[in-house]
Amino acid sequence: MKNNLETICVQGGWQPKKGEPRVLPIYQSTTFKYETSEQMARLFDLEDSGYFYTRLQNPTNDCVAQKICDLEGGVAAMLTSSGQAASFYSVLNICEAGGHIISASTIYGGTSNLFTVTMKKMGIDVTLVDPDATAEEISAQIRPNTKAIFGETISNPSLVVLDIEKFANVAHSHGIPLIVDNTFATPINCRPFEFGADIVIHSTTKYMDGHATSVGGCIVDSGNFDWMAHADKFPGLTTPDESYHGLVYAKAFGKGAYITKATAQIMRDLGSIQSPQNAFLLNLGLETLHLRVQRHCENAQKVAEFLAANEQISWINYPGLENDKYHELAKKYLPKGSCGVVTFAVKGGREKAIKFMDSLKLACIVTHVADARTSVLHPASHTHRQLTDEQLLAAGVQPDLIRFSVGIENVDDIIADIKQALDAIK
Ligand SMILES: *Cc1c(COP(=O)(O)O)cnc(C)c1O
Repeated sequence: MKNNLETICVQGGWQPKKGEPRVLPIYQSTTFKYETSEQMARLFDLEDSGYFYTRLQNPTNDCVAQKICDLEGGVAAMLTSSGQAASFYSVLNICEAGGHIISASTIYGGTSNLFTVTMKKMGIDVTLVDPDATAEEISAQIRPNTKAIFGETISNPSLVVLDIEKFANVAHSHGIPLIVDNTFATPINCRPFEFGADIVIHSTTKYMDGHATSVGGCIVDSGNFDWMAHADKFPGLTTPDESYHGLVYAKAFGKGAYITKATAQIMRDLGSIQSPQNAFLLNLGLETLHLRVQRHCENAQKVAEFLAANEQISWINYPGLENDKYHELAKKYLPKGSCGVVTFAVKGGREKAIKFMDSLKLACIVTHVADARTSVLHPASHTHRQLTDEQLLAAGVQPDLIRFSVGIENVDDIIADIKQALDAIK
């Protein structure tokens, strides 16, 4: 029986048997017991599946990963310690030194640093492309050593909606997978696999946790990419892994190959695991994801409409607004709603933006988005503080951009707060 998203949110993952706890237990154990040395040895050789050390796998984490996997409609998933670790591992799993990736230029600032600074130092090259570029223009950037294309369903903070089919078609016509960061949309509003994405990653820190308690990430595989059909591009999956006595992931694990390798090799060696405690909290958040995302979107739509009609606002981005540049793409990819984040500027530029934010009472200034509480951030003063105005524009962040993360409070109270802050800067 295939359940709907709302049911998976509440009941997915943990399936207790007779006499077991109704609620997902926290397996607060680094290690797991076996009866014979041989039993454990088979686990180390990946000949049997089972738990032996939490750096590789933990039952609490696996249940939560399974829930997210089912929400996305994938075949396998793993949790990571953060969204950053998920982005990093999703690429590193198929791209080694000497490789190259293409990424939409409008991505989260942390991902941009990871790709253009840290991974570059590791010998992995990246080309950033305009998400609105044509298929031909994107194709022209592909090199013989290109291993993947990366983009965000809805970019943070510029709220560009990715034309997933366009990017997937380019990727597939060159024999490489499309990796999509689905953090802002969540599987409630968009399931990128349905449009051709091959791998989905999440910062579960945002809407999935939803209460700002735990940093975490997740990688989900659709199982659709045929690694063996492009065997010479992906030797890590299609040739023997000497650290497992010459096992070949794509042959031994079929559709589970990508996540098995990411777990058994990348996580084994780099160790960015999510703690079972955090996975438990993430699971509590997931149980209400469908309700919260719906309310975030309803509230954000009303806030966006209020701002769009206000003469103190110089511009606004929200895919739910009819005249938004990405409204048509949003109708196709995000028919139920986009996200709770609205970006805009007040007339008077950077200085007024800061005064406006300081005047807000209900909306708090925090380095966070996408939790139940309305929050606000000025990227030019905070997350992107090191950049000049020219660099900000290149990153798709206007110097006057205010990132307003609409929470699930009463929307009239949120709008009243904005109103009094706008009055304060008149
Ligand atoms: C926050 C964020 C990340 C990074 O996630 P962390 O959990 O903070 O490491 C990646 N992608 C997007 C879209 C994000 O908003």
